[in-house]
Amino acid sequence: MTTPKTRRRLLRRWIHRMPGMISCEELETFILDYLDDDLPAPKKRVFERHLKMCQECRDYLAAYCTSLALAKQAVAIDDGIDNTDIPEDLVTAIIEARNTK
Ligand SMILES: [Zn+2]
Repeated sequence: MTTPKTRRRLLRRWIHRMPGMISCEELETFILDYLDDDLPAPKKRVFERHLKMCQECRDYLAAYCTSLALAKQAVAIDDGIDNTDIPEDLVTAIIEARNTK
């Protein structure tokens, strides 16, 4: 008799032995390129095929996207107070004041 956990483990092993299938670890290394749409078509297909069959990687990708979105928000907030808002004249004045000391 097999428990659901054993069945899942067997399924995972079976998934990874299929031709053209990647492991969960390999999938992780492709995630950034996948999200940037930089994966070549064959790799993208393999990536998506793995995702369809692997709940753990779907969960991982969802968590990854959430963290990425949060990181992007943080960067956007940083950009809001970035030196792009500081007038060029003020920067020049500060540099000149420092140099005269
Ligand atoms: Zn996986």
